[in-house]
Amino acid sequence: EVKRDPKIQVQRLKLPILGEEQRIMELINENEFLIVAGETGSGKTTQIPQFLYEAGYAQHKMIAVTEPRRVATVAMSARVGYELGLTSKEVSYLMRFEGNVTKDTKIKFMTDGVLLKEVQSDFLLSKYSVVIIDEAHERSAYTDILLGLLTRIVPLRRKRGCPLRLIIMSATLRVEDFTENTRLFKTPPPVIKIESRQFPVTTHFNKNTNSDYLKEAYRKAVKIHTRLPEGGILIFVTGQQEVHYLVRKLRAAFPYRKDVNYSKLITKNKSVSDADAALDSEPEDIESDDDEVEKEMKRARKARRKLKQKSKTLPKINLDDYDMPDDDGQADLVDDDDDSEGHLSDSDTEEDLLALSIKSCRQPLWVLPLYSMLSQGKQARVFQAAPPGARLCVVSTDVAETSLTIPAVRYVVDSGKKKMRVYDHVTGASAWRIVWTSQASAEQRAGRAGRVSSGHTYRLYSSAVFQHECPEQYPPDICRRPVDDLVLTMKCMGIDKVVNFPFPTAPDRMQLRMAEKRLLTLGILEKPPMKNIRKDEEVLKVTPLGMAVSAFPLLPRYGKMLALSHQQNLLPYTIMMVSALTVPEVMSGKPDSWPATGHMLLLGDPGVLLRAVGAAEYAYSKGEEEIFCAKYGLREKGIKEIRKLRKQLTSEINLSVAGVDVTVDPAMQPPSDAQARLLRQLLLCGLGDQVGKKIGLDEVKQGWSTASIQHVRHAAAQRRAGAPAEAGAALRAGRPGREEDSSGRG
Ligand code: ADP
Ligand code: MG
Repeated sequence: EVKRDPKIQVQRLKLPILGEEQRIMELINENEFLIVAGETGSGKTTQIPQFLYEAGYAQHKMIAVTEPRRVATVAMSARVGYELGLTSKEVSYLMRFEGNVTKDTKIKFMTDGVLLKEVQSDFLLSKYSVVIIDEAHERSAYTDILLGLLTRIVPLRRKRGCPLRLIIMSATLRVEDFTENTRLFKTPPPVIKIESRQFPVTTHFNKNTNSDYLKEAYRKAVKIHTRLPEGGILIFVTGQQEVHYLVRKLRAAFPYRKDVNYSKLITKNKSVSDADAALDSEPEDIESDDDEVEKEMKRARKARRKLKQKSKTLPKINLDDYDMPDDDGQADLVDDDDDSEGHLSDSDTEEDLLALSIKSCRQPLWVLPLYSMLSQGKQARVFQAAPPGARLCVVSTDVAETSLTIPAVRYVVDSGKKKMRVYDHVTGASAWRIVWTSQASAEQRAGRAGRVSSGHTYRLYSSAVFQHECPEQYPPDICRRPVDDLVLTMKCMGIDKVVNFPFPTAPDRMQLRMAEKRLLTLGILEKPPMKNIRKDEEVLKVTPLGMAVSAFPLLPRYGKMLALSHQQNLLPYTIMMVSALTVPEVMSGKPDSWPATGHMLLLGDPGVLLRAVGAAEYAYSKGEEEIFCAKYGLREKGIKEIRKLRKQLTSEINLSVAGVDVTVDPAMQPPSDAQARLLRQLLLCGLGDQVGKKIGLDEVKQGWSTASIQHVRHAAAQRRAGAPAEAGAALRAGRPGREEDSSGRG
């Protein structure tokens, strides 16, 4: 029996999905598969788990909900628990390195990767009565695999007499990928479309595309805030640093002070002295004590002061332009943008106008950051109303696109960009790149402005860019990424023929075969003993090393380094090295004392990385981490992440490898020269397929086969790593047989 707070019940009843509860539950009770499509914010994630809970689905087994994003995993479990009047003991979450699941958990939110790991140890997912795959339109690789697996698990569970339900939830985009996929479903499952109130959103394109989209976003936000009627602003940029940058700038421009009663100030006839008080005195810094903020605010104050002097002598400016226009139809900021770009060649004047409008605005902007790695408490703030008199402005990465619905947004400012992991398909190397969003994403972002009333979306790029640069949709992740650890994970689950797996969208077969070959090279897969198997039926199996490797929540190559270092008594160092290698951009900060780009030299050197992390740990043990990181340009968050990973890995290894008891020693000595050499060898064991040797053209002309060139590369790499005997020993430990005959590309 659920006892909800009446206030919550009022809020819930506003969601159209509540009216569909009965229909939804009937469909779920009568079908094993159900697809729920509905606009973002219609209540899928928060309400359907509650419907299931109330219908008794959590009585004997758990309700599982998977999310592709960590931010949603935490936020949604908290929200559902709150709405149900339950604690985090009953409505819990679990993701890599973090969670609050208990034996009493009834509804379990988890990242899709976590559920995929669970399939490995319990293929039938026997703890669950229903699995909800949320945000299926995101098409994360793990989600895709889970979907393929679940279409096979569900019939198995039926045969065992304990049925499992699968609910696929998706935004309205891309539903056909599932409904019309005969590989997944022989007969198409029922689809329920949740209607939701969506008010019209006017889209405005910039005439020109300014490559400095942060500056452009700032300007647009200033204009919206100073000229347009009430309503929250949601700004889409690409990453955490950009979010912070804009948050600082906007807070500096429209500071919020706790000791000022803005609701009074605003209804009162806007008097200059009030404005001066609000703008020129020390604004309250609500986020952090970062000195960046300080500097930014000083700059803003200086600009304002300068402008004040100037404005006395400036030719008459028609301040009517800065009045708030009446509602609707007048929110087109683009036209005067174009004007300003056309007539006012003097950019100083443009800046002055902007500064002037900032100055004449007394209303504070309640600016909040939102991104995936933001702490839970700070994430929750975006759901709360801005303080009276202030306007809400959320600066977010694409997590606000579909995962989280921010209330009361009327204006969307869309940079048109997002960060995407881009893979090099020849080398398998990957990097985060800033790319244009897809057209589908742009529409999705625009829709965020029409949740509470009609709204406006400002795209900071031209319609030509939209048409010619933005793809309609990006291919799903699984088709874009190297599939090494997917192949390994799937093989460990007993899915031998990965190529024939019922993927919602199948990855490139060539890629799958290449991954198998790489894993073969690393000694993680092996050919089964030859009997009467036809060549096309040959199936690569996981080696014992591969099994050990797959236990690590890391790419197989790192898993291999860990698995092998056990034999060399180097485990604590390898754990630290691997942890450090898997956390990006640890040395990305600019040291206080260093010249601008000096630290870039260090990025590629694992030895330096290891020493840096070791030293940071030592500083941490003395409580001097922050100073140390700032001094040497280490990213403190990265260091903390490494620490977490190191602890996690250490305890996992202690649990899973018999006879091993590693401790995390903050005052660990730097490795000796001999140890360092062994570490380099371990590094090579994991990265052997990425080592290259430059060869002269004459060598190629001798007509060597590709295989023999690779042989030379591999042998040379081993020589460089240190004593051949030791390297050979390490390699042999990894895989009996000839390691060097099938290296990958250099
Ligand atoms: P969907 O999954 O269909 O996109 P959700 O279930 O996430 O929709 O959201 C339904 C509604 O609940 C939205 O209006 C959203 O703003 C609101 N909501 C979600 N989480 C919270 C929260 N933590 N605090 C307040 N409102 C929330
Ligand atoms: Mg949702």
